[in-house]
Amino acid sequence: MKRVYNFNAGPSAMPLEVLQEVQAEFLDFQHTGMSIVEISHRSAAYQAMQDDVKATLRRFLSIPDGYAVIFMQGGGSMQFVMHAANFLKRKGGYINTGVWSDKAMKAAQFFGTTYEVASSKGDGFTYIPSPDTFSVQDGTDYVYITSNNTIHGTEWQTYPSFDVPLFCDMSSDFLSRPFDVSNFDFVYAGAQKNVGPAGVVVGIIKEELLKQARTDLPDMLKYQTYVDKDSTYNTPPVFGIYFVGKVLHWLEDHGGLAAMASRNKEKADLVYSVLDSSDGFYRGHARKDSRSRMNVTFNLPSPELEAEFAAKAAEKGLIGLKGHRSIGGCRASLYNAVTLEGCQALADFMETFRQNH
Ligand code: PMP
Repeated sequence: MKRVYNFNAGPSAMPLEVLQEVQAEFLDFQHTGMSIVEISHRSAAYQAMQDDVKATLRRFLSIPDGYAVIFMQGGGSMQFVMHAANFLKRKGGYINTGVWSDKAMKAAQFFGTTYEVASSKGDGFTYIPSPDTFSVQDGTDYVYITSNNTIHGTEWQTYPSFDVPLFCDMSSDFLSRPFDVSNFDFVYAGAQKNVGPAGVVVGIIKEELLKQARTDLPDMLKYQTYVDKDSTYNTPPVFGIYFVGKVLHWLEDHGGLAAMASRNKEKADLVYSVLDSSDGFYRGHARKDSRSRMNVTFNLPSPELEAEFAAKAAEKGLIGLKGHRSIGGCRASLYNAVTLEGCQALADFMETFRQNH
């Protein structure tokens, strides 16, 4: 077996130790004689596992009382629908920083009025708007942000706060750095970048906020159902939740979120420094003050060179460097499980490729 250096944007690299642990106990989950994908979600063994995932996450993020941890299916895209179904009554305010916030805003329009509190769309989503450009209208139910813009490679460096509830899609930088849960009313993250396989979304929701939710909805669309039924109203994404638990324990064994944040910075700095010292051969998409530590996006002098870059890199075992189909260019995703060694290999490859061209 030869494992590659995986720079995929999601699904993406998972910690090797976690994959091995999952493999080792796949046929016999905690001496039940069954796989985790074979046991009942109503069993004590399942419940103990899910309780541990929630408790570990709470400990990790110091989640205050008054917030519930829930697990949902349907990916980030289902949250584009659900947040508005539950909370859009008058107006939803969006800080539009990329394809995913744009999509969330468009999905919300099914339920009511939306507007942009701020936007970097006119400038190709190259930056995170600064607070002095925010304009929150009267009657706003919530402000919605995307912490990390997977496609354009920008990331909030510090989070804003508002007088109205703040919602955040953290799908592509969840658990890559510490954050203060109490600054938000609802946070969600599709697992398939930093925390697990596709198929589970982790939500952290303020119970006070739920009092404002619409009740004229099908039960499956109500956040309240997931809170009341401890995410087991129907069959939860059992394997995904189990896997998230493994990743959480891996994170804990590797020094927790503060250690992860400094490692992620070190990794991203390695790659950005190649961009910055390339005399314009590599042109970063994001403005420097908005750079993502998760997704480094850049262009080469021509689309032909970009294709050659990705192909030559793949030959060397550096996989997933082609940019998203909507904007082209190149992208290196450096999620938690991508190693410093992998980033060094990428930086070395980029340096050599530039010299050869
Ligand atoms: N939000 C962000 C930040 C994303 O990067 C993505 C997908 N890459 C989504 C939402 C949509 O997630 P899904 O494909 O799970 O619907």
